[in-house]
Amino acid sequence: MQSQHIENIVIVGGGTAGWIAAAAMSRLLGAAVKITLIESEAIGTVGVGEATIPQIRRLNGVLGLDENEFVRETRGTFKLGIEFNNWGHIGESYLHTFGDAGINLASLHFHHYWLRSQAEGNTAGLWDYSLHHKAAYSHKFGRLDRVGNTSMTGLAYAFHFDAGLYARYLRKHAEAAGVQRVEGKVVDVQLQPDTGFIQSVTLERGEQISGDLFIDCSGFRGLLIGQALGVDYQDWSQWLPCNGAVAVGCESTEPLLPYTKATAHDAGWQWRIPLQHRTGNGHVFCDGFTDKDKATETLLANLDGAPMGDPKQLRFTTGRRDKFWHKNCVSLGLASGFLEPLESTSIHLIQSNVSKLIELFPDRNFDPANEAEYNRQVSHEYELIRDFLILHYHRTDREDSEFWRYCKHMSVPDNLREKMTLFAGNGLLYKDAEDLFRESSWVQVMVGQGLMPKSFHAMANRISSDQITRFLSDVQTLIERATNDLPQHQDFIAAHCKADLQ
Ligand SMILES: Cc1cc2nc3c(=O)[nH]c(=O)nc-3n(C[C@H](O)[C@H](O)[C@H](O)COP(=O)(O)OP(=O)(O)OC[C@H]3O[C@@H](n4cnc5c(N)ncnc54)[C@H](O)[C@@H]3O)c2cc1C
Repeated sequence: MQSQHIENIVIVGGGTAGWIAAAAMSRLLGAAVKITLIESEAIGTVGVGEATIPQIRRLNGVLGLDENEFVRETRGTFKLGIEFNNWGHIGESYLHTFGDAGINLASLHFHHYWLRSQAEGNTAGLWDYSLHHKAAYSHKFGRLDRVGNTSMTGLAYAFHFDAGLYARYLRKHAEAAGVQRVEGKVVDVQLQPDTGFIQSVTLERGEQISGDLFIDCSGFRGLLIGQALGVDYQDWSQWLPCNGAVAVGCESTEPLLPYTKATAHDAGWQWRIPLQHRTGNGHVFCDGFTDKDKATETLLANLDGAPMGDPKQLRFTTGRRDKFWHKNCVSLGLASGFLEPLESTSIHLIQSNVSKLIELFPDRNFDPANEAEYNRQVSHEYELIRDFLILHYHRTDREDSEFWRYCKHMSVPDNLREKMTLFAGNGLLYKDAEDLFRESSWVQVMVGQGLMPKSFHAMANRISSDQITRFLSDVQTLIERATNDLPQHQDFIAAHCKADLQ
């Protein structure tokens, strides 16, 4: 029997997507498969993408990375969540943390007990029962799986890192695992005349590189999936209207915060990402409501350190490819779609899609069933994240600019509308099995943006008012004690993963 196994994978693009794919596939598929990665230093990478979500720790585990070394080499910091300023209402803030508020009791989510206590006069906010919130605003961080002997989970965390150093770090691992890097610019793509499958790519210097499976990591241009294979792009800017960004680093300020900031402006929002050697900043905006000069002015006026270098302009269209896998080509990263950086989900999508590709790995027959299942799963994943992002723009009291009036009054996908309506009643939520965001994330963003349920689940009435008061107070005591025991974020980094900044 002749083997139909794929023997030769060609990755086009050496940004975060290309090197994650190369590092993970070389690790999981082993030496039986030859992996070639083509990248062009002349073209370069998008150069942003520096905040992550906790799922990245799974990828690090698969790649066998040492976490301290990883943070040190990427000049990274730790992240407990994102602080949203001025989203639901100007002057209001909330922290979308990576953890749960409180402790769930008798299989009922904590927020129902909190809602009941509010109805009975408790004025403490949801975040007064959040370990992540307390640690973040005390500028503390530590590796804590569980709070003492209790059922309260410890700190779920992710990282901020330098995007360029991250790609370089992954490259080192991938090359050590046998990935062959080819420097050069792809100028042509050859298709098999009978099937329309990709046969090879041609570099500017004339060299042809052929493969069985092609991974398109060429960024927004979608060189293989879009330009060569003609797969269309679905534009989602009616719901996620931002289409430009201007980014600049600035000098670091102290203390080193263990969270990202996302501050809403008149026609978009600004990120602040603390790294060991600089702070990353960017203003994401919609050019239908402002222009790039004004956006740049706003960005520079809202830095908390001196800018380092010239601001970099970026353009994008929120949305996704009609198909992520077509024939013998799978697109990853920006070549496959972009939902905007509000919840730091793009790098996660790369890792999650590589993992789906490995699960549904084809042979050289390229059974259409593998392609169809992959496209179904990834489309669904994109749509669920899209709805979560739309929530941030849509659930707002802001009507102070044309942009916010548009967002507040736009029509939203049915799923999101139904979720908001359900929550507005008795604080109920359902979690789609494939949703990246857990109930706790939906609760925090809904409440943070000002969507307070009218009531709570009847199960919260099973215990007495006194028991609820004691329960809430115990939760706060546990949080207080656990936070007291944590080191300052800056000291934790100095002790375990300080970068060499010489
Ligand atoms: C404003 C903004 C902010 C973002 N913030 C975040 C964030 O905080 N968190 C997050 O998870 N994600 C974020 N992202 C997304 C993140 O930047 C990307 O998902 C990630 O960097 C992956 O990019 P990529 O590798 O797909 O593309 P790129 O970085 O653009 O890489 C493309 C690669 O293809 C190569 N290439 C292109 N054409 C050719 C050719 N003809 N021949 C040879 N090589 C070629 C290039 O040289 C490059 O190596 C952000 C994106 C934007 C636009």
